[in-house]
Amino acid sequence: VPDAPAAPTVPSVRLEDIGKSFGNTAAVNNISLDIQQGEFFSLLGPSGCGKTTLLRMLAGFESPDRGRILIDGQDMTRVPPYARPINMMFQSYALFPHMSVADNIAFGLRQTSMARTDRNARVQEMMELVQISPLARRKPHQLSGGQRQRVALARALARHPSILLLDEPLGALDKKLREKTQFELMNIQQRLGTTFIVVTHDQEEAMTMSSRIALMREGQIEQLDAPRRLYEFPATRYAASFIGSINLFDARVLRQNGDEVTLACDAAGAELQVRSSEKMLPGMALTLAVRPEKIRLLHAGDAATAGQPANRLRGRIKEIAYLGGVSIYHAELPSGKRVQFTQPNVQALAEQPLSWEQDVMLGWQPDSCSVLTE
Ligand code: ATP
Repeated sequence: VPDAPAAPTVPSVRLEDIGKSFGNTAAVNNISLDIQQGEFFSLLGPSGCGKTTLLRMLAGFESPDRGRILIDGQDMTRVPPYARPINMMFQSYALFPHMSVADNIAFGLRQTSMARTDRNARVQEMMELVQISPLARRKPHQLSGGQRQRVALARALARHPSILLLDEPLGALDKKLREKTQFELMNIQQRLGTTFIVVTHDQEEAMTMSSRIALMREGQIEQLDAPRRLYEFPATRYAASFIGSINLFDARVLRQNGDEVTLACDAAGAELQVRSSEKMLPGMALTLAVRPEKIRLLHAGDAATAGQPANRLRGRIKEIAYLGGVSIYHAELPSGKRVQFTQPNVQALAEQPLSWEQDVMLGWQPDSCSVLTE
């Protein structure tokens, strides 16, 4: 039986050509995008790229100069914040210091016509959701940073908003707690099915939590993709460099045979092979990008053996960073260019790992690297 065609769904959020300037600064420059119901969506980018401005326009704290904002199919461009099915969790949490945890969570509910018993039940439900029930009577100053974050989350979710906006939700937590809280946020989001839209400048955080990431640059979206695609197939040098570490080689097309492209690269001192189905004209300048973990260490005498990667470079180890599970190495090529590669530390301690100034042969497969034209 063939699958029934998927029912057309109304996106949770639709931005149509949204723009906002402050004086001469275009904080957000004509952004259009759809966010689906139940997505965990991240706005990622460096300081000043317009993430917060975009989030504030969604919340209604800022109104766009141009464009439309649709929420669940309704035009909300001029609708005030309190009348949108949206709530926002601020980076500072903005808890009321004189109120108990339970009263903080109940605060937004008191502004509705909800009956007292229903309100109390909702507060209980929220405290259980974020696992803070035993802290109900405490005041914010009697809580740890992580506990305060949970109260802020419970308060933001108490009215069951259709969309929750989170501004750097884990920014105030230390690294260990941040990692743990990431998984809790994902878990809560999945259980509720609420659309989460998160602003972050932390790429690892965005990669871990999001269904999709909008990578922003100077008020625009540079690339919008699932984390894995953004990492494996960055579209531009900016995207490649923002997410993780990557080696970039300036190169020129020599020839293309089907999807096998041969490049000339001065820094590599060798021809390089890459796969691409896009048409590449000889002489065209581009950048070859290869992630450090795609580079293999080849052993002496391997070069002529069948099954060796088409791309091979000779180098000398100049830097070693031991990180426990893996080590990061920097090798210097004869041209002076440095190449970064990683090796898992699986050998016994007694076995000699690579040492400083050691000569090595590095290699990677043509389908383990990508080409960037911007
Ligand atoms: P950060 O990660 O540092 O918070 P961001 O990506 O959230 O940065 P925005 O706060 O949206 O960036 O700012 C985008 C641009 O708009 C910046 O150049 C900023 O200086 C400018 N901007 C933001 N708000 C205002 C304002 N109220 N008045 C003037 N300029 C502003």
